[in-house]
Amino acid sequence: MPVRHDHWIDGKAVVPAGGGYLPTLEPATREPGDEIAAGSGADVEHAVTAAAAAQPDWARRSGADRGEILLRVADAMDAHAPELTELEGAATGKVPRQLKTEIEMSAAYFRYYAGVLRAHHGRVIDQGGASHTYTRLEPYGIIAVITPWNLPLNQACRALAPALAAGNAVVAKPSELTSASTVCLARLASEAGLPDGVLNVVTGTGPEVGTPLATDPRVGRITFTGSVPTGRYLARIAADRLVPVTLELGGKSPLLVFADADLERAAAAAVASAATNAGQVCSATTRLLVEASVHDAFVERVVAGVERLIPGVDFGPIITEAQYTKVLDFFAATRASGLEPVTGGGPYLDGPGARGFYLRPTVYAGVTPDLPVAREEIFGPVLVTMPFDDESEALTLANDSEYGLVGSVWSGDVARGLRLAERIDAGQVAVNGGPMTIETPFGGYKASGYGREKGLEALAEYARVKTVSLSLY
Ligand code: NAD
Repeated sequence: MPVRHDHWIDGKAVVPAGGGYLPTLEPATREPGDEIAAGSGADVEHAVTAAAAAQPDWARRSGADRGEILLRVADAMDAHAPELTELEGAATGKVPRQLKTEIEMSAAYFRYYAGVLRAHHGRVIDQGGASHTYTRLEPYGIIAVITPWNLPLNQACRALAPALAAGNAVVAKPSELTSASTVCLARLASEAGLPDGVLNVVTGTGPEVGTPLATDPRVGRITFTGSVPTGRYLARIAADRLVPVTLELGGKSPLLVFADADLERAAAAAVASAATNAGQVCSATTRLLVEASVHDAFVERVVAGVERLIPGVDFGPIITEAQYTKVLDFFAATRASGLEPVTGGGPYLDGPGARGFYLRPTVYAGVTPDLPVAREEIFGPVLVTMPFDDESEALTLANDSEYGLVGSVWSGDVARGLRLAERIDAGQVAVNGGPMTIETPFGGYKASGYGREKGLEALAEYARVKTVSLSLY
């Protein structure tokens, strides 16, 4: 019998008002997975009511007090890492190394915001001695957090930790494909001492749960991670309601390689883009722009690297049969347009990779920028390469995208790296593999969205600034 996961509302497991559960399929094995509560507007109503009742007390606590509880949540996540790993692993098929990184980072979000919260204050504004004027950082009230399936727990915690730290209550709606880890986190948080109603999780589909949540008049802010069409839809709802929204959407990010770069390290970064979650990462740098004089040598290195990847060991499956078929259709359409991959371009026909929705890591070399494979976010282990002649052409190609999430520049000339970092239209640019961590703000330019998560910026997003001014005379 599959395990059933209920909602988590007001500090307890709650069966769905409609009584139904949604099945899931484990992508690594194609076997039936756990079932999750099929939520509806009635469940959202219950959760938002619980959040509204709990939030004022939560907000009135000192930052130090909220921080102590968030630290206990992080400790509980660490202590229950095997359970979280099992749930996340079954739902996504992610490989153990990846699961370990994501789950450790999920807990670390709570630690980081528990700490920085203690230095999160308003300021005093000196107006010349006739007044005492200061700002207060006040929570929005209830935050709706709607997240996708590719880094389920991690993306949820990225939003939950700063939202809760700032004194908000949260109603989270994880992807219907991968909800169990977020429900488990909410239970662990309650057990760790987070007051009932401060963190609620309602599972189910976007239309049945996400829409009533985003439209509930008591929700003061929406944080969404997912696709561009859903982001646009939620931004319209937010505009109608005049509430702010943070949108973390898609990407087709460039990785620029100059002839003077450390080609070995740059190739390893490109291979990692295909391998990490089988390319199902919004920030994957899948457009490889390579200086013409080293293009072929670089492609050789990348191809050798991806051919060494072992399904189930180095990378996981595609999340669903529908997404798997979509990428296969992409391969077929690209072939029909006359472009053959240098490697990959299909499923595994035998061995462990044939059991689940695994696709062969794929490289298309020397593509032209107009092709769909060079423009569209594929969300599979697919890399394209494009040669360039000089820095200016590299920059033009890098910015020739509707998206602007990440840029990666590899060059022995550090000044060139920083020059390009200033000119690439993206929310974050790494030069020679510079790290992106919890401390570094993350978010998009252009169709990759707006608003920032991570870093101090995320805490600021979840607080409203109020000015209080007192006349001294
Ligand atoms: P999606 O937009 O289909 O779903 C994301 C979430 O939105 C899910 O919880 C879903 O149930 C919900 N949703 C769907 N329709 C809705 C509706 N009508 N109303 C309210 N909620 C609704 O996206 P996906 O397929 O789950 O995720 C893949 C996409 O997410 C990719 O495009 C990827 O680039 C993007 N993504 C971005 C980031 C980032 O941080 N920028 C991270 C991960 C994924």
